[in-house]
Amino acid sequence: MLKIIPLGGLGEIGLNMMVIEYDEVMFIIDAGLMFPEDYMLGVDIVIPAMDYIRENKDKVQAVILTHAHEDHIGALPYLLKEIRLPVYGTAFTLGIVRNKLIEFDLNKYIDLNLVNPGETLSIDPFEIEFIRVSHSTADGVGLAITTPRGGRGPYRGLQDQP
Ligand SMILES: [Zn+2]
Repeated sequence: MLKIIPLGGLGEIGLNMMVIEYDEVMFIIDAGLMFPEDYMLGVDIVIPAMDYIRENKDKVQAVILTHAHEDHIGALPYLLKEIRLPVYGTAFTLGIVRNKLIEFDLNKYIDLNLVNPGETLSIDPFEIEFIRVSHSTADGVGLAITTPRGGRGPYRGLQDQP
């Protein structure tokens, strides 16, 4: 079964984090924080509840980042402190992440993997295409994900039909 599980970021500003899962394989899209609301006195940052990832950590293959805003990468060090995962992103995003990992003393343990817009990453059984988007930070991408239950492949086929 294909599962698409938002751990945050829907209907709120911040906490962007989503799990894509098929059978024994999972990957994570983004790991963002939220800046606290006025009523959260004494709270510095808010991060997504990652229990589902903890419970399934043997399935998780990678974290894929869309862009370098804090609401998409701010929780990454807290995830990687617990679970060492390879990280995929564009050049600017990885540059920001590298500094963040140095700050948390994690840089020696984490593989940062460059993917350019237009390229496709394979995490069997998924194909993840990086698509350039315009945004208020540099080097942002959208992801077109082909899964065993559908995705970009069939849509492309439909467009080819007269
Ligand atoms: Zn953004």
